[in-house]
Formats: sequence, structure tokens, C-alpha cells
Amino acid sequence: MADEFTTTVYRDEDADSTYIEDKTVAVLGYGSQGHAHALNLHDSGVDVIVGLREDSSSWPEAESEGLRVETPDVAAAEADIVQMLVPDTIQPAVYEAIEDGLDAGDTLQFAHGFNIHYGQIRPPEDVDVTMVAPKSPGHLVRRTYQRGEGVPGLIAVYQDATGDAKDQSLAYAEAIGCTRAGVIETSFQEEVETDLFGEQAVLCGGVTELMKMGYETLVDAGYSPEMAYFECMNEMKLIVDLIYEGGLMGMWNSVSDTAEYGGLTRGEYVVDEEYAREGMEEVLEEVQNGEFAREWITENQTNRPSYKQLRAAEEGHEIEDVGGSLRELFAWEEEKAEAPADD
Ligand code: NAD
Ligand code: MG
Ligand code: MG
Ligand code: MG
Ligand code: MG
Repeated sequence: MADEFTTTVYRDEDADSTYIEDKTVAVLGYGSQGHAHALNLHDSGVDVIVGLREDSSSWPEAESEGLRVETPDVAAAEADIVQMLVPDTIQPAVYEAIEDGLDAGDTLQFAHGFNIHYGQIRPPEDVDVTMVAPKSPGHLVRRTYQRGEGVPGLIAVYQDATGDAKDQSLAYAEAIGCTRAGVIETSFQEEVETDLFGEQAVLCGGVTELMKMGYETLVDAGYSPEMAYFECMNEMKLIVDLIYEGGLMGMWNSVSDTAEYGGLTRGEYVVDEEYAREGMEEVLEEVQNGEFAREWITENQTNRPSYKQLRAAEEGHEIEDVGGSLRELFAWEEEKAEAPADD
């Protein structure tokens, strides 16, 4: 297998746990990432305080797992490392509540760089500002750790006041299991811009537009909505699973030669060199020049008018109706998905 990378991949032997073992970590939030970071750190012997709102339903849950819980301001004041794992749109408000608890030499850490990169949080100059971000949803961060494995992750240093920012990030990544798989160093700018571009142009935006347009093209031509749903939405998972496991060739090798020839010749009729590439460059430009960030920040400051409207329209698309009914035919799959994966 390819083991050549364009960048260094850090593993357990590159991490020195002494950079974290006498530190107290405040994990703010107990959602997808928060519960996984807090529990993995705790199991690795690191002193953890979970920071939650007093009325949070996660408070008793975290305590029942043996974790100490305080409000974010109290947790941050006591901690040496504050890991921000509340939703990105809420982070600026939570930061205001914890700001006074950041002493010189403390670390403010993130799992996504949006608020630092676009200036929504401006930490003092005497604290380290870092990122440790698993490339995976939280339940896998937790489940793999419990099996003695881990998920790949990113580290980044935005501000290094102590001189130890990178070593401490690696030690944190080790404590949550990421160096068992491999950790790559990036920058806040690169993480944010590639993340936003990927989700907008390809993963979330690109894929859904492609599916809806394919569905509409078939239905407008008189084919049945059920057939259109299967061909343009349902089967996407099968193809993506093949690509996830074996890359493009793994997928091409698994589909029929007819599908392969048709795909290789016709794909570019749709995602064409001229218009699609121009569109992607435009998406990237709005990410890089901050236009997208400004738009989204304004949305959040004005009760999300466009977001709500767009969401309602998506919910009302015919493919959602047809898909909802057809997915019930796959009810047997739910049993499989809900069964404990490994224990
Ligand atoms: P989430 O929505 O799953 O959880 C957020 C948590 O914050 C919830 O437990 C909620 O109770 C808590 N919370 C909400 N408001 C709060 C407040 N005012 N004070 C204290 N706690 C509050 O979020 P998530 O998906 O875990 O995302 C956290 C961070 O991790 C984000 O920066 C995100 O970009 C990043 N990230 C997420 C993933 C992922 O797969 N979910 C992967 C990598 C990075
Ligand atoms: Mg402190
Ligand atoms: Mg991403
Ligand atoms: Mg994202
Ligand atoms: Mg087919």
C-alpha cells in the first residue's frame, strides 16, 4: 500500500504524553465530539472537567460516566487547556463567558478553525491557540479508542505563546487515540478553507444538487419517481462505499464495463470543464475572501431567514416524499444498523 505522503504523519511514538499528563482539560460541550474527547482523555488518565450550561440535559449523563461537570466559566478558569466543542455558531458567545479564565500560558483549542480564522474569536496574545480535530464523527472517536484503535486527526497551531503548542497538541491527539491511526499537521486557514470548500462544492452541496437534478430529469421525462429515486439517490451509497474502500479504480472495477464506459464518457457532460470548474472556483473564492463567512455570520445574527427558507424548500422537494416511503421498504436494514457494532 502507498505509504508515501506529501506531509509528515505523526504516530504514538512522536507524541510525548508528559506535555499533557499534569494538565487539566476543560471540554466545553458534550455532543458528538465533546463526549468522545472527554471520555477518551479521562480513560487516558488526563484530568478532565466538562463545561456545560446549568440546564443542559447532558449534565447528568456526563456525571454518570464518572466525569466532573461545571459551567463553562468555572471549568475554563480551572483548566490549563480549554477545548471548544460547542457548535461553531455558539462558540463566540461561549468564548465571552470563559475569556477571563484564560491565564497566560493556557491553551485555547478547537476542532474546527472557523471562528479563529474569520476573527469571530480573538484570544489574548499570551495563550496558545491550537487545533486537534479528529477526521471523524465523535461516536467513532470513542468506539475506536475503546477497541485500542483510533481515527486519523489533524493538529494545527495558530498561536504559540509557550513554545510547546505543537507538542501539547500531539499529546492531546495521542490521549484521544488519534496518533494510533495517524495525525497530520495543517494550519487553521487550510483546515477551514478546505473544509468549507469540500462541504459546499462536493460533499453536501454538490452531491445533493446532482441527485435532485438527476431525479428531476428522469421524472420530467416521464419515468416513475420511484425508479428515479433508486437510480439517482439510493444507489449513491453503494458507489460511495466502493470509492471509500478502494478509490476510483475500486469502484470502476466493481461496476459493469458498461457503467464504467458510460461514466467515463458521459460524466463530463454534466460536471463539465467550463461551467462546473468555474462554479467551483467561485465557491473557493467566496470562502477565501470571507464572503461566505460574512453571509453566514449575518444569517446567524438575524435569526437565519435564508437558512430557514432554503431548509423548508429542501424538505418540500418531491424526492423527500418518494424517498421517505421507499426507505420504509428497507426497514430490515435498521435492525442491522442499530445492533451494537462490536460488543
Ligand atoms: P454538537 O452539536 O454535537 O454538540 C455541541 C454540544 O455543545 C452539545 O452537547 C450542547 O449541549 C453543547 N452546548 C450547546 N450550547 C452550549 C452552551 N451555550 N454552553 C455550553 N455547551 C453548549 O457539536 P459537534 O458536532 O461535536 O461539534 C463541536 C466542534 O467540533 C465544532 O467546532 C465542529 O466543527 C467540530 N467537529 C465536529 C465533527 C463532527 O463530526 N461532529 C468533526 C470534527 C470537528
Ligand atoms: Mg485557566
Ligand atoms: Mg470537513
Ligand atoms: Mg464543516
Ligand atoms: Mg444502474
